[in-house]
Amino acid sequence: MTVTRFAPSPTGYIHVGNLRTALMNFLIAKKAGGEFILRIDDTDPERSKQEYVDAIQEDLEWLGLTWDRIEHQSSRLDRYAAAADELREKGRFYEAFETPTELDLKRKKQLNMGLPPVYDRAALKLSDDEVAALRAERGQGVWRFKLDHQRIEWTDGILGELSIDAASVSDPVLIRQDGQVLYTIASVVDDTDMGVTHVVRGSDHVTNTATQIQIMSALGHTAPNFAHHSLLTGPQGEALSKRLGTLALRDLREAGVQPIALLSHMARLGSSQPIELVETIDELAEGFDLTQFGSAPTKFDVDDLYPLTARYLHGLPLSAVADQVSALGVPADLAETFWTIARANITTLHDLPGWWALFRDGATPLVADEDREFVAEAFAMLPEPPYSADTWSTWTSAVKEATGRKGKGLFMPLRKAVTGLERGPEMADVMTLLQKKPSL
Ligand code: GLU
Repeated sequence: MTVTRFAPSPTGYIHVGNLRTALMNFLIAKKAGGEFILRIDDTDPERSKQEYVDAIQEDLEWLGLTWDRIEHQSSRLDRYAAAADELREKGRFYEAFETPTELDLKRKKQLNMGLPPVYDRAALKLSDDEVAALRAERGQGVWRFKLDHQRIEWTDGILGELSIDAASVSDPVLIRQDGQVLYTIASVVDDTDMGVTHVVRGSDHVTNTATQIQIMSALGHTAPNFAHHSLLTGPQGEALSKRLGTLALRDLREAGVQPIALLSHMARLGSSQPIELVETIDELAEGFDLTQFGSAPTKFDVDDLYPLTARYLHGLPLSAVADQVSALGVPADLAETFWTIARANITTLHDLPGWWALFRDGATPLVADEDREFVAEAFAMLPEPPYSADTWSTWTSAVKEATGRKGKGLFMPLRKAVTGLERGPEMADVMTLLQKKPSL
């Protein structure tokens, strides 16, 4: 069975970059009829917050990216400790005592000599006595995984054939000095325990993947299929990292972006398939193809989400928004007409109250000086509401008769005076919705 997972760290709100990862994993599982796991990577007790765990679930639910199972790393610490013991027994785990300052100095020296800044494994040469002395002096060390110095190769679901020389990578620290288990090993244990078959994540994880493949094999497991998607940039190719704070999913929701518009966009962005608005997530899953994604950084422009949102709303039946329309105070018998007119003229649902206010209270008339007298005369010929579907034609015919105006010269000044806008919905419809007689 296909099993995927989305593994956010609950240290902040999730944003469009995280969504890309979540969605790809979700769609792979969905398409294959498999399982999608939400895994909360909360091994860092200081930075992980329940508030963010709740927010992540809320955001995914809003989008309809529901998970079959939720797991918390913080409740699996004994599994990670067991894996650490196994690595120790197998001679693949060693304790190192360098301070951050010492490591930094080593790196600088290597760079000065034109060498790659890879940890020199000095800790491996320590005798038992030296280790005991260092422990007495400095307390616990960190625990590093001893990489096998070979090439690590895999076929990446997006990047194709990859090969990384293990000797060019530092032996990863898997347990910190304070005993905190790090993501690199926790993730390996979870992915194998939970039967994860496909892992899609950002290309910033490529080196992690190389080391995790070796850790898995040291623990006697085969690696899942890995794929690394490109990272998002801003519309001009600028780094998005600083703006991600403002591109949190909850901010987009607040701004009125519709879930299916966001999903339609993110499921295709950076792939060779065109972006098109779909009606359901199932449609996205059916057409999803990881191999269509490229390795180049992917430009993301938040403004692209609004035309899709508008298009979605333009096709929406009243039944989908009936509560919101009635909450505005639109009388039930006018709801259908109101929504039909409004939906064609809005970008997000936030624009809806403005349209109802226009019909309820009337607009500030837009009247050119040379039309003032004409408009006043026309308004005098208009009865009090309620108006019907015929009001506009009856009224304008009478005005035409009385003033001799016709065509644009007749209709435009009246449209602008009634709606305060240069263009907009059919005036016959507008009239039926007006709650007050327009006046100057
Ligand atoms: N918690 C990790 C992250 O958010 C998960 C990476 C992974 O998918 O393995 O970067």
